[in-house]
Amino acid sequence: MKPNIKNIAVLTSGGDAPGMNACIRAVVRTGIYHGKNMFGAVQGYQGLINNNIIPMNARSVSNILHMGGTILKTARCLEFKEDAGMEIAFKNLQEKEIDGLVVIGGDGTFTGAKRFGEKFGINVIGVPGTIDNDLYGSDFTLGYDTAINTVIEAIDKIRDTADSHDRLFFVEVMGRDSGCIALRSAIASGAEAVLLPERETSLKELITKLKAGASTKKSSSIVIVSEGNKYGGAYDIAKAVKRKFTHYDTKVTILGHLQRGGSPSGFDRILGSRLGFAATNALIAGESMKMVGLKGNKIGLTSLSEALSGLGNYKLEDDLLEMTHVLSI
Ligand code: ADP
Repeated sequence: MKPNIKNIAVLTSGGDAPGMNACIRAVVRTGIYHGKNMFGAVQGYQGLINNNIIPMNARSVSNILHMGGTILKTARCLEFKEDAGMEIAFKNLQEKEIDGLVVIGGDGTFTGAKRFGEKFGINVIGVPGTIDNDLYGSDFTLGYDTAINTVIEAIDKIRDTADSHDRLFFVEVMGRDSGCIALRSAIASGAEAVLLPERETSLKELITKLKAGASTKKSSSIVIVSEGNKYGGAYDIAKAVKRKFTHYDTKVTILGHLQRGGSPSGFDRILGSRLGFAATNALIAGESMKMVGLKGNKIGLTSLSEALSGLGNYKLEDDLLEMTHVLSI
């Protein structure tokens, strides 16, 4: 039977991502439109445990659509991994008669949501919010598009200085085990090479490529290093290359957490709005233990178990990798 959900809480958990605010706004306003009482848990699961669960209305989410980060804050909450922590969280929700939960986050967040939903029968819908684009059931995750654009803007600036000085730059980007950000930003910024966690590009191959560029009078080269690749971080690789390839003045830039921040792109504002709207509507329609996602430009639902199965972890596209190689000669 369809549960008659009355009170819904939304939270953001794990790594923050641009577009989370657009999503919070959509969740809150969709619930209010349908006559539900809306709440926000501050600092993700920690907020459930600390009973930091605040009422939200349409005005609580005014003027946040364009903001990076998350107005509800986020946290990594170890206590929620323990049964005792989950029980406190559930008791706090019960007190406020909250019967629906929208969780915005990555795979850790969904693992917690799945356990919580199974244990206490609370209705839960997940929204994929992570710059890594590594969840099954959504072609894109919230924040990924903004992160790519941030990386591209940074590399364009690096290219100006690299070109002026005939330099070789190693730029390290985020993505954990996924080379999605690295490969896309390599294409869009015309990088000479890219090192990915999914592929073992040998250092020898990399040096051959850089030498070929130098012999045809390339005035600068940029190598994108994805975190999680086999040879280590950008500093390690720069050192190894420098030993064999003294021609260039080598420099390293680690883009780090700036990839997480910034005003969300148009794409992420729209995606956050669509996913938030769909998540609340799904809860109201009686769905639970599912993730909303974008599949071929349509919103679809995937069970949390499937989303977490690793089935669809980003598969590197060989054709894009080959194209990157060809276009950067
Ligand atoms: P992300 O959601 O971005 O992958 P994390 O992996 O840090 O980020 O997970 C976010 C939070 O989800 C954790 O801090 C914890 O509170 C909760 N969580 C993660 N794994 C579990 C688990 N096995 N059981 C319960 N909660 C979990």
